[in-house]
Amino acid sequence: MKFNKNTILAQVGVIKNEKYGAISTPIYHSATFRHPAIGESTGYDYSRTSNPTRQELETALASLEEGKYGFAFPTGMAALTTIFGLFKSGDHVILSEDLYGGTYRLLKQYFNQYGIDADFIDTTNLIEVEQTWKPNTKGLLIETPSNPLMKITDIKLCAKLCKQFNALFIVDNTFMTPYYQTPINLGADIVIHSGTKYLAGHNDLLAGAIITNDADLADRIGFLQNTTGSVLSAGDSWLLLRSLKTLGLRMERQTKNAQAIVEWAQTEGSKWINQVYYPSINEQGYNIHLGQATGDGAMLSIRFKSEQLAMDLLSKLELFSFAESLGGVESLITIPSRQTHADMPEDYRKKLGVTDDLLRISVGIEDCNDLIYDLTQAINKCI
Ligand SMILES: *Cc1c(COP(=O)(O)O)cnc(C)c1O
Repeated sequence: MKFNKNTILAQVGVIKNEKYGAISTPIYHSATFRHPAIGESTGYDYSRTSNPTRQELETALASLEEGKYGFAFPTGMAALTTIFGLFKSGDHVILSEDLYGGTYRLLKQYFNQYGIDADFIDTTNLIEVEQTWKPNTKGLLIETPSNPLMKITDIKLCAKLCKQFNALFIVDNTFMTPYYQTPINLGADIVIHSGTKYLAGHNDLLAGAIITNDADLADRIGFLQNTTGSVLSAGDSWLLLRSLKTLGLRMERQTKNAQAIVEWAQTEGSKWINQVYYPSINEQGYNIHLGQATGDGAMLSIRFKSEQLAMDLLSKLELFSFAESLGGVESLITIPSRQTHADMPEDYRKKLGVTDDLLRISVGIEDCNDLIYDLTQAINKCI
């Protein structure tokens, strides 16, 4: 029997054979594990290699993403660093141009030193992807919906292309979460997450994750993780297990709230707003999105009629916190040009449309009328 995702989520970390019958996974705060005898092991030797609490989380992450192997990292960037450690000097990789600014920085200011060449392009356009392909292209990484403009890339078509050219296909699934989108089912080799965002969901924890279905890749990722020491602590693993239980409830509620704000922005709010970016109103890609995801999520971006208004209202909000990050129960608002995407060169940001008139909203679980009231009162204070 294959259980529903909500059932799997509620049961995350519930162990059946715990010595005292505890329901919640114990936090194994032990750096090392005693060996019964030479050549014997309890299954655990040293916590960098493996830890029972982390393993419980890793099993849960794998099962949610419908992959066989999961790995928990201290941050999303640590997970991404591990993934790009799979490539060699002389390799070329292609990435979505409209993506998390830290991923851009990782390739442009770190992995470039080790001879890994990266092109950032519009992956919503498969022709552009094929045209950018080189004989040494070994990987493709996409975000869909993209960040911050919510563009949709076709996961299945990208998977097909990567298979044809024998390249690794990586999907950063942070925005959708496995609750709405499971890229491994659509042909992705590797799924990565900033667990800091929706998986943790409370703006109180940093984490990252990698999931794959491929035993050979899992061996190489496990080797890199153990060798570079990039592991999530037992305490944080437990906290993330705890958070996952409510992922479905949070996603549903946050998505509903986001839809209400999108509707407001297109009606009453349209006096002050030029454009709203959200999957359901994305003409370019909504049909593709519907074919690969079961929900629209709670990230949206708004382009205001003036840069001044966008920048001024940030300090007038009462409920929304003007802060980077996303995915938590508390609503956040950010100006990508100055924060999450500040490390991209200005002309690159301009070309994408990441300018000072654009604000990105991560909608939380508050009452949506209160959130709309907050946006309205802040705008009224500015005009
Ligand atoms: C935040 C984020 C990351 C980086 O994750 P950290 O946990 O902050 O290191 C990577 N990808 C996306 C899409 C993100 O939003």
